[in-house]
Amino acid sequence: MADCIFCKIVKGDIPCTKVYEDEKVLAFADINPIADGHTLIIPKNHTENIWEISGEDLSAIHLVSIKVAKAMKAALNSVGIALLQLNGSAVNQVVMHYHLHLIPRRADDPKLALTSWELKPGDMKAIEEIASKIASEIK
Ligand code: 5GP
Ligand code: ZN
Repeated sequence: MADCIFCKIVKGDIPCTKVYEDEKVLAFADINPIADGHTLIIPKNHTENIWEISGEDLSAIHLVSIKVAKAMKAALNSVGIALLQLNGSAVNQVVMHYHLHLIPRRADDPKLALTSWELKPGDMKAIEEIASKIASEIK
């Protein structure tokens, strides 16, 4: 897509710090890292979000995430990695080309705020009703 930053990166029109590439997928360093090693994995095909992406592209991204996650463990002594996809502008997706964030943590890193929400027991009746609404729409 002509005005998409990540499509321009795929084409080589905008530079990136490449971590991995194959025929379907590109992984590169985020230019605003929230941790050392913060990496993005994208499909080379322009596709915006989880409602649009093909199973083939999504599988390819996640297979590459295994490689990158293992490399992070070896290279950075990562003891945990947040794998995160912000799906839609309502949850702060800024670049509208599907991407998976890999955010590695070392043993002595402070907790990542976005992964440490408080656990509060929910209302089981509401939980069941909502889950069953979702389940009834699974195709
Ligand atoms: P989102 O909020 O859409 O999940 O995150 C988009 C991410 O893309 C941000 O973390 C941002 O730093 C990163 N980003 C935006 N533009 C560029 C760019 O031109 N190059 C690289 N490497 N990362 C980018
Ligand atoms: Zn794109």
